[in-house]
Amino acid sequence: MKLKVLHSEEVHVRIDRVRGKNVSVFGMARSGMAIAKLLKNLGASVFLTEKKAETDLSSVIIELRIEGIEYEAGGHTEKAIEHKDYLVISPGIPTDIPLLVKAKEEGIPVFSEIEVAYWLSEAQVVGITGSNGKTTTTTLVGEILKEDERECRVAGNIGVPFSKVVQDVSSGGIIVLELSSFQLELIEEFKPKISAILNITPDHLDRYPDLRSYTDAKLRLLENQTEEDFAVLNWDDPVTSKLAPLSRAKSVFFSTKNELKAGSYVKNGNLVFQQNGKSEEIIAIEDIRIKGPHNLSNSAAACAICGILGVKTESMEKALGRFKGVEHRLEEVAIIDQKRFVNDSKATNVDSLYYALLSIKEPILLIAGGRDKGGDFNRLKELIQRKVKGLILLGESKEKIKNTFGDLVPSYFVDSLEEGIKLAFQKAEKGDCVLLSPACASFDMFKNYEERGRVFKDAVLSLKKERDD
Ligand code: ADP
Repeated sequence: MKLKVLHSEEVHVRIDRVRGKNVSVFGMARSGMAIAKLLKNLGASVFLTEKKAETDLSSVIIELRIEGIEYEAGGHTEKAIEHKDYLVISPGIPTDIPLLVKAKEEGIPVFSEIEVAYWLSEAQVVGITGSNGKTTTTTLVGEILKEDERECRVAGNIGVPFSKVVQDVSSGGIIVLELSSFQLELIEEFKPKISAILNITPDHLDRYPDLRSYTDAKLRLLENQTEEDFAVLNWDDPVTSKLAPLSRAKSVFFSTKNELKAGSYVKNGNLVFQQNGKSEEIIAIEDIRIKGPHNLSNSAAACAICGILGVKTESMEKALGRFKGVEHRLEEVAIIDQKRFVNDSKATNVDSLYYALLSIKEPILLIAGGRDKGGDFNRLKELIQRKVKGLILLGESKEKIKNTFGDLVPSYFVDSLEEGIKLAFQKAEKGDCVLLSPACASFDMFKNYEERGRVFKDAVLSLKKERDD
């Protein structure tokens, strides 16, 4: 593998932080594997450490043997921190495990995969974070850039590790990263050319002690930016609208509710981008294919980012007109006996359920529940009463949800998603919508939200087949 080291000020390739270094990578999932291979190929001596037993890691172990990377499985031992220049931590690994605490006490730096991959990136980096809408906005920015024939890759939290694509994009290209607050906790030099904070609402309060520390983690995205960089911020969000003074970067706002003097916003039914006093219409709102107020906000954010990058408005218009959205986000699965089934399994917090309820026009049979993330369901009371005909509840949080809404709408407990779908179909009338939008994490019953969404889709499609036969 070859790495071009450029010497312009803009390019920050730091091969010196890699070559000849002793590095441990914690976690053998996608990003751990990708960064380990990259570091090894660039001349670091790499040690991988994983909690899972070797027997559960067979394909990964084969890969490591082929690559000649040293490893341990079945737990992290002292070997993982001995004589190491720094450690790289996968996002899933808590930073307070005893070995990492010890490493920090011994002064061994601990970085996220994002930070280390950034040292090796020649491309311009766009970093997108927020409580909700990250994947949709990141994907959409990628689609718009593709439409504009830009060299670009989409990576980060979205599934493809930054370190896997970092060498595929040249200095003229763009890497668009979806970033979680966990990935931002362990950065040092990471500095996107364009940062975007879409919104900050209570989420992951199970991992963070309060909203303040969660916000602080997100704000690290802006930390290293300078006057040469841009911060795209949501004018409609009470937290992000106040962030401009905290950032050295030039702030560019987006809004779906107010006309702005610059940035992207809605005017006379159109999405508009205004820069240097010049305003351009991008697309009529009704022509944007992804629906709902939250998706209008995501579209406005994507246009602000692409506007800064000098993308043609026709490219934005074309991409917004055809982009269907991402799987498991308000995804229409089937219509059976004039009852529409929608998979919104990615709605893992209260806020995303709120937007799902706002986006769906028909009366709703709502399937919700799962592992509670500490959110406050009370703020949905009015919307639930107005739009939901019946609540079908499953998972660990079913009692809590019933206690909140039980007096407002009929609610039923089920033990599985399949049972929930059958019951919802029975209770629904023609013209209703059966919506899976759990407002909770999936881990009490499923491997992840993707599996929950797939189980929902499979069960709905087999119900459809039964009815068609
Ligand atoms: P993320 O990657 O931040 O989790 P996604 O784009 O995957 O965001 O969307 C996750 C869920 O959040 C979806 O169920 C969607 O309905 C909801 N959602 C998407 N965009 C927004 C937004 N801007 N504000 C609030 N909720 C949103």
